[in-house]
Amino acid sequence: MHRLTNAPATFCETDIMERTDYYEDQKYCPECGQYVHYLMSVEASYCIHCGERVHLFSRDDWESFNKSLQERRPKGGRPRKQRGKESA
Ligand SMILES: [Zn+2]
Repeated sequence: MHRLTNAPATFCETDIMERTDYYEDQKYCPECGQYVHYLMSVEASYCIHCGERVHLFSRDDWESFNKSLQERRPKGGRPRKQRGKESA
């Protein structure tokens, strides 16, 4: 009974690492309505399914992201008083 014992020990580890990269390498395609894999060009990234330009976030995520950026950004260098619209 012969048995090969030279199976690569690092196979599983490599496989997991590749999968992690695979999943993280996604952006949001408004055309497909979901996070998709994309092709990256110099200026933008494009959905591999429909060719639509993809974004880092979905629209909702993007708007809330922009909103939080604008709220944090100091306007005119003067600190603004924060209103208690969000009860922390
Ligand atoms: Zn798409």
